[in-house]
Amino acid sequence: MTTLAPPATIAFIGLGMMGRPMATRLVEAGFKLRVFDVSQKAVSDFVGAHPSALAAASAKAAAQGAAALITMLPDGKIVRQAVLEGRDAAVDGLDAGALVMDMSSSNPVDTQKLARDLAGRGVALLDAPVSGGVKRAVDGSLSIMVGGSAADLERVRPVFGAMGKTITLCGPAGAGHALKALNNYLSAAGLVAMCEALVVGEAFGLDPGTMVDVFNSSTGKSNATEVKGRQFVVSRTFAAGFTTALMAKDLRTAGDVAQHLKLNMPNLQQAVSYWTAADGKLGKGADHTEIFRYAEMLAEEE
Ligand code: NAD
Repeated sequence: MTTLAPPATIAFIGLGMMGRPMATRLVEAGFKLRVFDVSQKAVSDFVGAHPSALAAASAKAAAQGAAALITMLPDGKIVRQAVLEGRDAAVDGLDAGALVMDMSSSNPVDTQKLARDLAGRGVALLDAPVSGGVKRAVDGSLSIMVGGSAADLERVRPVFGAMGKTITLCGPAGAGHALKALNNYLSAAGLVAMCEALVVGEAFGLDPGTMVDVFNSSTGKSNATEVKGRQFVVSRTFAAGFTTALMAKDLRTAGDVAQHLKLNMPNLQQAVSYWTAADGKLGKGADHTEIFRYAEMLAEEE
């Protein structure tokens, strides 16, 4: 098995908030990219900024001649369509022996099935969701959680190395996606706890900036207090680059995994309901840090 090092050709599907900076890291590392997104603007912006990349008209066209394919799409159902079941799906363009890396935050139970179905077509799958947000996608320091075989991971390690700093083999197919959903449960829970604390504290007369500084030097410190508190919540810029809709999806995924395993997790179920309701209330495109506004709204309810 040959290792996929630059200048190998990689197909990249999904050039959104995360996909664009991740694909940029690959171009800068010397990989040849064939890119596709349903948004023609996303494709033309990317190819305009990186003329060495080739614009493809479908997932299948992107896959042709590529040694591996990366998906960075909203969810696993869309990944399944783009890779396997939709019109001009990638699998129809891939050579046998090619490898697919689904770096989206997909549902791990669906991923197990996708891995089996792709294996039947001679294509291997690694689930490789990421954590760290847009900032760490830009500087190539993402945490990448991998599910699949160790041999496949070794084959594409230089690809992940161009985008991430911590690459962890979590277990077989689906393991990366399961861990990602559970990670985001912790992340979301910490964010809501900080937001509720800020709403209560402000009502008591505390200064929100001072509160965040004290959390950060005390046991209340979390990713939310450190990288979202002053930056996006206290400043009310709400521009972390990750939507409430995607966070709500990740929580539903974590809830689905617990349910699939017949585990009763009341706090997780509460988080699923809370974020799903917030998504409906905050409106399309709302940043996930706007959960603070949702906490403020709820605080005013009778
Ligand atoms: P996004 O909505 O900004 O980007 C998704 C892209 O996929 C868009 O450009 C869209 O046009 C494209 N797309 C949708 N359907 C398609 C299809 N059928 N074929 C080709 N392209 C299609 O989302 P994002 O924030 O970049 O997130 C992508 C994934 O990464 C999600 O699963 C998300 O949960 C996960 N994630 C996001 C962040 C973040 O901070 N934004 C962090 C970690 C993980």
